[in-house]
Amino acid sequence: MRLLVVGGVAAGLSAASRARRLDPHAEITVLEKGQRISYGACGLPYLIEGQVRDIGELTVYTPEFFEKERDIRVRTGAEVTALHPARREAVLSSGERLGYDALVWAAGARPRERFDDPRLFSLHTDVDARRLQEALAGGKPKSAAVVGGGYIGLEMAGALRARGLEVELYDRGPHLLHWNETWLTEALTARLEEYRVRVHLNSPVVSPASLPHDVVLTAVGLSPNAEIPAAAGAETGRSGALLVNEFCETSLAGVYAAGDCCETMHAVTRAPAWVPLGTTANKMGRVAGANAAGGRERFPGIAGTAVVRIAGLGIATTGLSASLATGAGFDAVAARITKREKPPYFRGRRATVELVADRRTARLLGGCVTGDIDPTGRINVIATALQAQLTAHQFAQLDLAYAPPYATVMDPLLVAAQQLIKLLD
Ligand SMILES: Cc1cc2nc3c(=O)[nH]c(=O)nc-3n(C[C@H](O)[C@H](O)[C@H](O)COP(=O)(O)OP(=O)(O)OC[C@H]3O[C@@H](n4cnc5c(N)ncnc54)[C@H](O)[C@@H]3O)c2cc1C
Repeated sequence: MRLLVVGGVAAGLSAASRARRLDPHAEITVLEKGQRISYGACGLPYLIEGQVRDIGELTVYTPEFFEKERDIRVRTGAEVTALHPARREAVLSSGERLGYDALVWAAGARPRERFDDPRLFSLHTDVDARRLQEALAGGKPKSAAVVGGGYIGLEMAGALRARGLEVELYDRGPHLLHWNETWLTEALTARLEEYRVRVHLNSPVVSPASLPHDVVLTAVGLSPNAEIPAAAGAETGRSGALLVNEFCETSLAGVYAAGDCCETMHAVTRAPAWVPLGTTANKMGRVAGANAAGGRERFPGIAGTAVVRIAGLGIATTGLSASLATGAGFDAVAARITKREKPPYFRGRRATVELVADRRTARLLGGCVTGDIDPTGRINVIATALQAQLTAHQFAQLDLAYAPPYATVMDPLLVAAQQLIKLLD
């Protein structure tokens, strides 16, 4: 069996490794157009900030590791430019043609906007990070503009501020992050302003090059790298990303896809959604790889769970906010509380929890946890509840742990659920 994997980062290498476990005899080749594989782009803002000293610290495996330990051939500098599904052939930019029995498309996504200007930057790859690092070290810039108030823009505003630059952040809409709620935008804006990042909402930047700052970083969203399979006939969804079924199969025979280049099922809306995140790419890659090697595993989909730290503020979200839920056709009700997550004598900090439910069914639809805390544990509880389709009443009865050094007797999650029930009943 000849398996080709296109893309050598999260989804691609998970797919190749899983396929090798299932089929010790398959001929597996990973094709990566860049020079580096298996690195955590998620760590790039921390490289810029200075918390990570070298890009090497973000690199998990080398091509040699894959060759020696997993008998997987990794070709860097190998860009696939076309697929011929009828002949089961991939074409490289060099003109070389490679046959396959199964192929996993794991080519990720790319920044929606890129500019050819020495003052303008994006942060998506190791190459982008190196270029920005060199500019920060060499040019001694004093000011930076960040265009885009999504999580990468916000992380980068914090990172550039930590490097001592004066930072201004622009977003064309009224909200920061994708939760689309005014209270969260206000909390974030207050924190950024405290951190001396000036925030400009409702401020579309038509031409980033016209901004007067020494460095301009644009982070205005991604486009999925789906054009090549799409040109070969693969179906795409509303986002332009590839449509796959629960087995990670595209509509092309023998072609699977995983990661940022595809849509997947949303656990709350039960409709395909495009939420490009690293954790999804890794898990989806494993399923695509298993099935490409002859298995029959399922990827159940996502709740869009995400966590980020911005100027010290932890923010985690999962599922749908009230406004997103309303937009998706639910009769959304939201309750929000702020409460210490530990007793004051253990220096408990305040956590804000928002829970969203559907008035008709009382089913939980989403949640947000924020504060000067690590919100991961609590958001993961809400994410689990979403995937289990719990109602607010079931959620309020969860048996959550308590001891004074770690928690309060009534966890903020349960207090928020009780508040939500009052609105539902
Ligand atoms: C700055 C930053 C911070 C992030 N932080 C987080 C975070 O905190 N949490 C989180 O969950 N996610 C985070 N992410 C997102 C996460 O990194 C991605 O979701 C994840 O890398 C997607 O993995 P992937 O394998 O699908 O795609 P990618 O990692 O994009 O890998 C795709 C690979 O395919 C290659 N390729 C593309 N086209 C071709 C072609 N035609 N031929 C050959 N090779 C090709 C590309 O060069 C690339 O190396 C962050 C991303 C960035 C940029």
